[in-house]
Amino acid sequence: MPAVARDDPSYKLRHSTAHVLAQAVREMFPGATFAWGPPHDRFENGFYYDFDLPRALTPEDFPELEDRMRRIIGEDHPFLFRAIGVEEARWLFSDQPYKLETIDELQKGKDEYGEERMGDTVISTYTQDTFEDLCLGPHLERTGGIPADGFKLLDVSGAYWRGDESNRMLQRVHGTVWPSKEELDLYLWRREEEEKRDHRRLGAELDLFSIRPEVGPGLALFHPKGALVRVLLEDYWRERHRAGGYDFVSTPHVGRSILWETSGHLKWYREGMYSAIPVEEDQYYIKPMNCPFHMLIFKGRPRSYRDLPLRFAELGTVYRYEPSGTLRGLLRVRGFTQDDAHLFCRPDQMRSEIDRVLDFCLSFLAAFGFDEPEMELSVRDPETPEKYAGSEDDWEKAESTLAAALEGRDLPYERVGGEAVFYGPKIDIGITDALGRRWQASTIQFDFNLPERFDLTYVGEDNQPHRPYMVHRALYGSIERFFALLVEHYAGALPVWLSPVQATVIPVSDRNVGYAEEVAGELAAAGFRAEVDGRSERMNAKIRDAQLQKTPYMLVVGGREEGAHGVSVRLRTGEDRGLTNLSTFKDHLREVVETKDSPGY
Ligand SMILES: [Zn+2]
Ligand SMILES: [Zn+2]
Repeated sequence: MPAVARDDPSYKLRHSTAHVLAQAVREMFPGATFAWGPPHDRFENGFYYDFDLPRALTPEDFPELEDRMRRIIGEDHPFLFRAIGVEEARWLFSDQPYKLETIDELQKGKDEYGEERMGDTVISTYTQDTFEDLCLGPHLERTGGIPADGFKLLDVSGAYWRGDESNRMLQRVHGTVWPSKEELDLYLWRREEEEKRDHRRLGAELDLFSIRPEVGPGLALFHPKGALVRVLLEDYWRERHRAGGYDFVSTPHVGRSILWETSGHLKWYREGMYSAIPVEEDQYYIKPMNCPFHMLIFKGRPRSYRDLPLRFAELGTVYRYEPSGTLRGLLRVRGFTQDDAHLFCRPDQMRSEIDRVLDFCLSFLAAFGFDEPEMELSVRDPETPEKYAGSEDDWEKAESTLAAALEGRDLPYERVGGEAVFYGPKIDIGITDALGRRWQASTIQFDFNLPERFDLTYVGEDNQPHRPYMVHRALYGSIERFFALLVEHYAGALPVWLSPVQATVIPVSDRNVGYAEEVAGELAAAGFRAEVDGRSERMNAKIRDAQLQKTPYMLVVGGREEGAHGVSVRLRTGEDRGLTNLSTFKDHLREVVETKDSPGY
């Protein structure tokens, strides 16, 4: 749990609230002993305090504790600082064993959290009202500086004294505090939404994917509905690349060690790769990246200046060793499919290629509704030119080309010095989801290293060999991650073109099952994904189930609909659109799918 720096602007507010919490706990439990409570980042704007209490505290105690805290805040007590001697401190905290231990530490030159501290041993306290606590500060001036409606206690959990399992287990009360009620409410809403939208939870509820211990952590199984969404994402990707002047390539999952030595991965990326697989006289490695294969395809035949630019694209599945503790659903996995492309061009084509790929990325993301991208340009640290592969001139050209492409589109961007990887500058495109969270999506990355390592050349107009410029590019980044992003962004209610089931036909009674099947058949023949819910459940239960499955359209069919060769249309939002002629509905559906629209999301 990352500690919050004392000079963090929110430190005083968070830490002062922890003292108020401690006072409230002492009022409720006169025999309590106190450990400590620095601000923390388990929750945004979080604080905590560890207590040793005569009974287990539960969330049911929170309203009373919060009331007491609000009273202390309302009384607007000053936080008073006092430097005291060791003797006085021992006397003051004689019934507080954790404080006494802390005083010992302070004498040894550590601060109250056990961190090494420079300078003289100062033992100090802060007092608000009748509550005096061992503390170095800083604090707000007064308890009234805490907004009485801007904090909330969130949970209580066990925590060992000093984080050591051989010590006594204490109770840690967590809370969050914000400068205003509005900010607190927004945070609590976002937290609740994040939980509801968590792709791991929705992935199970909507039967999209699973990650099973028998397979291994970070290795996902896509179930029929999830796999269908994936196929749709991939189909769209292929369609756009075909139209965009890319050549598809396809490469193996493993390669000999010589390949990874040439590419430099065995030297620079070894810890991200799985162990070697011995085969005959050789060592093979599972690919962590697709790039080396694409370099070899370029190198596979003589290239002339007339052949350029070349754009190789592949949905290449790669495997990377990620420590199991860092894995998270589909967001961080060990096996994933990169939507990779490598662009090769001449120096005089650089600007037009970058313009082209940038437009390609932006229009691709806009098709998913992400039309307010956040651009970031990562460039060299000019202080340490020796850290980078490629010539000064290459870097100069590449950085200015990327910047010019951004500026030419009036795209505001952040230029980050020293953020570029050693082999080239890049543009990162970030997108913002429905909860305002920023996600890294596409990357346009120059590379001066791999063409060198693989000695890639083309024959120029002057009949001499020249090194091409090479750019790595990903749009989705990883299909798995983008999939998770979409599920969370749409809370599972995917746009109609991506919905595994676009319409559920619900017969009013058994008599209408035949007509329901006829409707589903007509929709399927028109290229839509429809299913009939023929279970002998009540109609309202079927509508509810389809809504829970986030199916965009529920088509209710009874005698009236059958007579009119129509359907009664309901949306997953609950909106009732009434009786519609079936062919009118098909036209509507076709338009919604083609425009990637999403009514009722
Ligand atoms: Zn304090
Ligand atoms: Zn690459």
